[in-house]
Amino acid sequence: MTDCIFCKIIQGEIPTNKVYEDDDVFAFLDTSQATKGHTLLVPKKHVQDIYEYDSELAASVFSRVPKLAKALETAFSESEGLNIINNNREVAYQTVFHSHIHLIPRYTTDDDFKIFMKNNSEHYSDEAMQEIAATINQALTNA
Ligand code: AMP
Ligand code: ZN
Repeated sequence: MTDCIFCKIIQGEIPTNKVYEDDDVFAFLDTSQATKGHTLLVPKKHVQDIYEYDSELAASVFSRVPKLAKALETAFSESEGLNIINNNREVAYQTVFHSHIHLIPRYTTDDDFKIFMKNNSEHYSDEAMQEIAATINQALTNA
């Protein structure tokens, strides 16, 4: 896609700090470096978000995640864990609309990366939970 910053990075039209490349994917340092080693893994094919993946593309992209995760652990032995994040669409904080997976090494619980997931379980009865699961299951059956 001509107007996509990540396509331009993949094609070498914009400088980057490349970490990895193969036929299907490209990985490079996120300029923000939320933590040291913060890396983005992207499909070479331009897809906007997860809704545009098929199983084959997902297999090629997501199967590279453990390889990169282990490389980050080796590269930064002081890291103690890793967050893997994939934002989809604006409401979910996506800002670059070429699908990407963030790999964010974690050094302490107090570093510059935070996730807040409120526990709303008190608002969902057992019946409500069953209905939600059934609704998703039905959608999968129709997919
Ligand atoms: P997201 O908010 O999930 O869409 O993440 C987009 C990420 O792309 C942000 O963390 C940015 O720091 C990063 N980013 C934007 N432009 C570049 C660039 N030219 N090179 C590397 N990372 C970039
Ligand atoms: Zn693109």
